[in-house]
Amino acid sequence: MKLKGKSALITGAGSGIGKSIAQAFARSGAQVAISDLNLDAAQAVAEEIYSSGGVGSGMQMDVSDEKQVDAAVERVAREFGGLDILVSNAGIQIIHPITDFAFSDWRKVVAVHLDGAFLTTRAAMRSMISSGRGGTILYMGSIHSHIASPNKSAYVAAKHGILGLARAVAKEGAKHGIRSNVICPGFVLTPLVEKQIPEQAQQFGITEEDVVKNIMLRETVDGQFTSVEDIASTAIFLASFPGNALTGQSVVVSHGHYMQ
Ligand code: NAD
Repeated sequence: MKLKGKSALITGAGSGIGKSIAQAFARSGAQVAISDLNLDAAQAVAEEIYSSGGVGSGMQMDVSDEKQVDAAVERVAREFGGLDILVSNAGIQIIHPITDFAFSDWRKVVAVHLDGAFLTTRAAMRSMISSGRGGTILYMGSIHSHIASPNKSAYVAAKHGILGLARAVAKEGAKHGIRSNVICPGFVLTPLVEKQIPEQAQQFGITEEDVVKNIMLRETVDGQFTSVEDIASTAIFLASFPGNALTGQSVVVSHGHYMQ
């Protein structure tokens, strides 16, 4: 029960990594706000948490919409009596070579990852400062916060940008007891990645098996995907870590795909 008495807001928590973090936080004793663009998915996760004895509340929030973000953070702080942990996790992927990348697609990727991280951070910091309790902000970065891959220019640029935002939050947040860290997963088999396998097979003219073996997992030490549970355990470790020794950092969880 490492998060007993804490309240958390997780974005993009209706699926994949965010869903797994929501479930793990609830098992660790936190009250969890499960927010997602997809309300049905968020509510389904909240119901699962409730039926296993936890406290979860599902809500619709588009992280790139300023008004929705401010309203959702206020609601969480009101319903849970404050906000202690923000996990900025919502994400999308669009892949094209740079020369074929539509500006509208670039903007979509940057809006969800970077605008979303900024808007949720600003609202959470305001709430954490006004409560006087401080808090922890975790970002879902990626190995692509540190390295690049072909056809992922917008995603790579946005994920690198998250490192900068997290470091700025660490500097400005310290005097208010606010810490920030970035979790950088390698490939995790979630709907986001499942969609990319046939897309990349087509773009590179190779089989789906080759995409997994020779593109996604080639650089790992053991050819294994990182699991959602690996990421959730890391999130609990960082969210419950006391003091400022760990702030402004990125923790890479990738089966050795990228070693800092
Ligand atoms: P996923 O597709 O399973 O889940 C992403 C969730 O985000 C979905 O429920 C979706 O509805 C939600 N979402 C999308 N746009 C949104 C918006 N504008 N507002 C609110 N919610 C929105 O993907 P995932 O793999 O669980 O990805 C979660 C995070 O982890 C992303 O930031 C992703 O970039 C990052 N990540 C994933 C991997 C991986 O291999 N799966 C690796 C590194 C980093």
